[in-house]
Amino acid sequence: MDANIEMPAREALNSNVVVGIVGAGTMGAGIAQVLATAGHRVLLCDAGAGAAEGALASIFARIDKLAAKGRLTTEQVRVILDRLRPVSSLDSFVECGLVIEAIVEDLEAKRTLFKQIEAVVPDETILATNTSSISVTAIGAMLRRPQRFAGLHFFNPAPLMPLVEIIRGAATDLATTGVLHATALRWGKTPVDARSTPGFIVNRVARPFYAESLRLLDEGAADCATIDAVLREAGGFRMGSFELMDLIGNDVNYAVTKSVFDAFYGDSRFTPSLRQLELVEAGFLGRKSGRGFYEYGEDVAVVAPRTADASVTPLHLRICGGGQLAVHLAARLAGAGVRFERLEKHSDGRIADGDEFVLYRTDGRTATARSAECGVPQTVLVDLAFDESKASRLALSVADQAPAGAGGAAAGLLQAAGYAVSVIDDVPGMIVMRTVAMLANEAAEAVYHGVCSAAGCDLAMRKGVNYPRGPLEWADRLGLAEVVRVLDNIAQAYGEDRYRVSALLRRKAIAGDRFVGVKEEDHG
Ligand code: NAD
Repeated sequence: MDANIEMPAREALNSNVVVGIVGAGTMGAGIAQVLATAGHRVLLCDAGAGAAEGALASIFARIDKLAAKGRLTTEQVRVILDRLRPVSSLDSFVECGLVIEAIVEDLEAKRTLFKQIEAVVPDETILATNTSSISVTAIGAMLRRPQRFAGLHFFNPAPLMPLVEIIRGAATDLATTGVLHATALRWGKTPVDARSTPGFIVNRVARPFYAESLRLLDEGAADCATIDAVLREAGGFRMGSFELMDLIGNDVNYAVTKSVFDAFYGDSRFTPSLRQLELVEAGFLGRKSGRGFYEYGEDVAVVAPRTADASVTPLHLRICGGGQLAVHLAARLAGAGVRFERLEKHSDGRIADGDEFVLYRTDGRTATARSAECGVPQTVLVDLAFDESKASRLALSVADQAPAGAGGAAAGLLQAAGYAVSVIDDVPGMIVMRTVAMLANEAAEAVYHGVCSAAGCDLAMRKGVNYPRGPLEWADRLGLAEVVRVLDNIAQAYGEDRYRVSALLRRKAIAGDRFVGVKEEDHG
């Protein structure tokens, strides 16, 4: 597990080292900007006529904007540009101590290129690929010195995104990844070490963020705008999954899911969505094509999430227990002058009740199943939130057996406390809880299989995809036993292997252990 995958500390390459970059497209140009800004001389090579010069122009445009904002002086802009040189042949790479490849995502093209590079550069030169989905082991397999070869996975846009995954293939020397790690730190980046496995860290662990939303949509739990709003306003995610898929491009997002699914021999955890495939087939790729899950254009109105109409505040309210939501409900209701009774706790774990409803936090069972099992017909479930003190929206689901007024009464309570309410269909695990539990489960699997450390995984998810909290820390905060319970209940509801609990997560839950512990939060 964690123990032997941390890299030994190594010296960073210093800024005198000349770096060669092959492929001067989106990523090559971004990486060149990062490196030139960090002090390296950079040689840029591209097979396309004029592409390297075009990259220089795009870098100039970006750093010129920084100068206009006062973040760089004109002298600094000149120095950075002076460090960048387009070259027409790989022969110029003879002086390079590091070469980074960012060409087309194709195994044979990358293998051929690296063989040509290896024939030119000195033996000590480190070779790195920016591939996002091809096995680093496979690319390096044909090399004479695969021990000097690794993955250096930048995120787009490279000058802005802090994360760099440092990937070691089967033959990569730990000294090589150690140097790359230290060097990325010197560039001001956040390096995280990982083993070459499908999707590395971020592109693997993030799959459930999209997959669970797509399933919720398929099952009619809610529409895209409502799921997105709940993920943002309750879950604390910067973007909802559908708006993010539209931004990434459904073709790109689908292709990443499909490649991870195929690479794991069809593991059902990664099953691609037929609905997303249909969008791709229709050419509804997202923002870039004007239509994806949403429509885009000047005349197109933003789709509003479904929000429950204002309900009457229930008369006889009790708030039960010391959980976060109960505490915040009590504080908000008191602040709003709403009368309620405070109960230290209730034996069945309810958060609140009134004449017409009983409110529980989802534990992965549907409200309908829980209602039947506990003999409480008026069961209403509330979804997880990142921070109930700051959340502006909460999702509810109502048991099929509940009397007609149950959902409205529970919504009335939350509205009186200042939350917008989205009532979704009664699906197992709801939206945020199900997403977070599955993200944590995937993160636990990655740690279990030695892909990365627990802390590295959380760091990668915060810095690579801006999650408000690492999935494993989130699981620690919820309590691992609770996360296991949620997943077991979802698995039972669907009877599908997809929701099976990671052996490591279960083991830690049984031991009363944690992955990373609970850190101070920056809510800034
Ligand atoms: P891109 O299409 O913008 O640029 C690729 C460039 O490589 C083009 O200029 C092309 O002319 C050049 N090229 C292709 N084959 C070449 C060869 N044999 N020799 C020299 N130049 C060649 O692509 P991109 O988005 O910059 O992606 C590059 C790599 O980075 C891919 O492996 C991709 O998977 C990876 N990546 C992309 C992103 C992203 O969000 N775009 C993020 C992380 C990693």
